[in-house]
Amino acid sequence: MFEIVFLGTSASAPSVQRGLTSQVVLRGEHRFLIDAGEGTQRQILKSGLGFKRLDRILITHGHLDHILGLGGLISTFVRWETMDKILIAGGKSALDRIRDLLFGVVLKGKYPPVEITFQDLESGVIFEEDDFTVTAFPVYHRTPDCFGFVFEEFSRRPFLPEKAKALKIPPGAWRGELVNGNPVTLPDGRRIDPEMVLGEMQAGIKLVHVGDAGRTDNLVEFAQGADALVIEATYLETEKDLAEQFGHLTANQAGELAKEAGVGTLLLTHISRRYREDQVLEEARAVFPEVYVARDFDRFQVKRGECVKV
Ligand SMILES: [Zn+2]
Ligand SMILES: [Zn+2]
Repeated sequence: MFEIVFLGTSASAPSVQRGLTSQVVLRGEHRFLIDAGEGTQRQILKSGLGFKRLDRILITHGHLDHILGLGGLISTFVRWETMDKILIAGGKSALDRIRDLLFGVVLKGKYPPVEITFQDLESGVIFEEDDFTVTAFPVYHRTPDCFGFVFEEFSRRPFLPEKAKALKIPPGAWRGELVNGNPVTLPDGRRIDPEMVLGEMQAGIKLVHVGDAGRTDNLVEFAQGADALVIEATYLETEKDLAEQFGHLTANQAGELAKEAGVGTLLLTHISRRYREDQVLEEARAVFPEVYVARDFDRFQVKRGECVKV
């Protein structure tokens, strides 16, 4: 299971209800902060997540509504020394801007007591953990080097407890070995092959995050079959010309992408103050029924074939 907590869901400028873009993806002890618009550190505190282990920051692109919060956040991290090191991963132009913000202003003249590493993103796997990967892919927007992120569990063959029961396999390490694909010999001398207790190969749970985007045709392959797709919906079709001009999407385009890519649930964010939430929802829902317009502090659990708001 992956979880995503929305910390800020507004486009360009904050509103009374919505902070600027930021979200945290969680899996077990792993946490990834995606973007950090102005005000993100307070949103983290308000959400109850706290700063612990929030040491991997992924940046979709370098627009100010996605990065300005890094100034305050890193300043606090450095003063409190809550972690030993911080990794900031983003496209080259985003990282250039972030370095200017951090080393030209926030940390100017100081030697930070926390190790800050910048990872220049290219398409491909960024992190490979025990049972999932995080992959970056290119996104077209109004600025160069924009990236989206796929969080995906490894495919696996599920352990079938009813078969294990029928074979009278006792609880213990044997089950773990079989799940890992290794044959075992039980205390009674019987040899059990993994084939006997494992089901068909299943794709892992997949959560796809796209920040700001100006087109969708190049995103279908990456969003394909995602259990949940997070993407912007800054405009409505009535102002499609503005969406195009500023390299953003309409709710309808986001819905069409979700349909074409066969995703489970669509989570819309980067919501403009010019519309009511229900207008955005309605427009997307007309093409793709399983859709939410995320609000600040919404938390979703992404499981196989379902995405549940908790
Ligand atoms: Zn934006
Ligand atoms: Zn942008």
